[in-house]
Amino acid sequence: METAADPTGAENVQGSTVAPGEWHYAPDLPIENNPLFTWPWNWRRIAAYHRDYWLTLSEVSLFLIIAVGGWALSAPWFGDMTTLSAGWVGSILALNYGLVILVAGGFHLFFYTLRRQGDDRKYVAQFGHRGGGRFTFGRQVHDNMFWSLASGVPIWTGYEVLLLWTHANGWAPAISFTANPVLFIALILATGPWVAFHFYWGHRLLHTGPFYRHVHALHHRNVNIGPWSGISMHPVEHCIYFSSLLVHLIVPSHPVLVMFHGYMLALSAIFGHTGFHELLLGKSRRMMVGHFHHQLHHRYFECNYGSVDFPLDAWFGTFHDGSKAARQRLRERLGPR
Ligand SMILES: [Zn+2]
Ligand SMILES: [Zn+2]
Repeated sequence: METAADPTGAENVQGSTVAPGEWHYAPDLPIENNPLFTWPWNWRRIAAYHRDYWLTLSEVSLFLIIAVGGWALSAPWFGDMTTLSAGWVGSILALNYGLVILVAGGFHLFFYTLRRQGDDRKYVAQFGHRGGGRFTFGRQVHDNMFWSLASGVPIWTGYEVLLLWTHANGWAPAISFTANPVLFIALILATGPWVAFHFYWGHRLLHTGPFYRHVHALHHRNVNIGPWSGISMHPVEHCIYFSSLLVHLIVPSHPVLVMFHGYMLALSAIFGHTGFHELLLGKSRRMMVGHFHHQLHHRYFECNYGSVDFPLDAWFGTFHDGSKAARQRLRERLGPR
């Protein structure tokens, strides 16, 4: 959590390296990647990055609380998970539906329906797409809700159930916090970078010819994104995106880690597509919600396939840091495209 300085964001845009008129609001630029991957290590930057990531009211700290609390409260109800039964499988499906509806629906209601924050900290002044011709049911929010709820949540839940069932049967390596606290914490810390690493490669595949046209174009209907756009994807893309979870078949794991990983995929995508950089909490407090790195991807397409948590975009020349210089580099790389 940081202290808000400029309530309108207009000053921010004018004073930054962003091109005039490019964004309604932009964060401090250029955006930076996880300093853990920059050698030699700058311990101050690494400490500050992880402090902001984990020790403030941030999306990841919330997801961890939900995973720990959710497992502690629900495990006794689930009972024997060595067999697939409607009771515990249905409970996890209901929990995931509840969380997606609460987070995406809550953000949509707050930011878009009631407009409680106006356009303050909004990357693009316009609220969603006006024309509905390319959207299922002819309207962006209905399209996004349909693909999120009809495909996204069931496929995510399918992976999660598979992993919890596998772990309950002892078919995958398992750890506990009491027996392996250091490894347990290290695996929590590694979740974000792993998600970014996996997302980058799947996402690059989805930007190739037929995959883009028949699968990923559905997500890119949303140039001006909203909370429900986060996991609004084609079912094939959901299968690729949530396959990040399969690492728990190899790496020693625990149900809390599986649940947390799922939230880092599903709920984090919803946060990252709100279209707002920050949620303002009172006059001087704020919580970061938007992912400007991914907002740039929705505008310019052929850049920022991963996230700032693992700098594959920087290493492979596809990183757009939001600056005018980066936009020029993208133009030169793509040519007439
Ligand atoms: Zn997206
Ligand atoms: Zn894409």
